[in-house]
Amino acid sequence: MNLCSSITFRIFKNQHQMTELCPLCKEKGDPFFRNKQHKFYECELCKGIFRNPKQLLGREDEKERYLHHVSDINDTGYYNFVLPIIKEVLAHFGSGQCGLDYGCGHTPILSRLLSRENYNMEIYDAIFFNETAPLYKKYNFIVCCEVMEHFYQPHEEFKRLYELLLPGGKLICKTHIYEKGMDFDAWYYKNDPSHVFIYQKETLEWIKDQFKWSGLEINNRLISFSK
Ligand SMILES: [Zn+2]
Repeated sequence: MNLCSSITFRIFKNQHQMTELCPLCKEKGDPFFRNKQHKFYECELCKGIFRNPKQLLGREDEKERYLHHVSDINDTGYYNFVLPIIKEVLAHFGSGQCGLDYGCGHTPILSRLLSRENYNMEIYDAIFFNETAPLYKKYNFIVCCEVMEHFYQPHEEFKRLYELLLPGGKLICKTHIYEKGMDFDAWYYKNDPSHVFIYQKETLEWIKDQFKWSGLEINNRLISFSK
């Protein structure tokens, strides 16, 4: 190998190592942030910010992490935390309609609170409630509270969520969106090792277009897709 082709080879190799495929749109992601504990890429197309695949937790470590998440039905802080979702459901759906709490965690409080409002709730969680029968029904709405940032396979998850909804249904999510100009280094949200996919507004718009949602509303951390 002459000197010139050797240099070309090294440059190509480095470029190849520096990028990762986006788990949402499958386009190229470029290095976005790196410190001792965390490495993230930003997708060139959908602008999703995703964790280095080599840093993804195994299922047992992930479970251990979720067991530390606080969830007490009488906890006012938690109630206030889920209140925007409950208000969104109450604003659009009448009592008796069917909802799914997707990624409900080990203690499905949100679905209990919505059941108290007379909705017919089902639950699903890939780790704690992975009975698949609820995935063969159709729903008026799906609530997904602080779940989408944990998606290892966001494309497959959003496809499934779209298909689980009846026409006119809504997918109501809560996550913390990254906005350009925010100090990612100082941002607490990236520090949770189970937060693997972070969304920007462009990412949510890409999802809306890709899966043919009819509407998308973003209100701080509350995100609502309409079928
Ligand atoms: Zn992407």
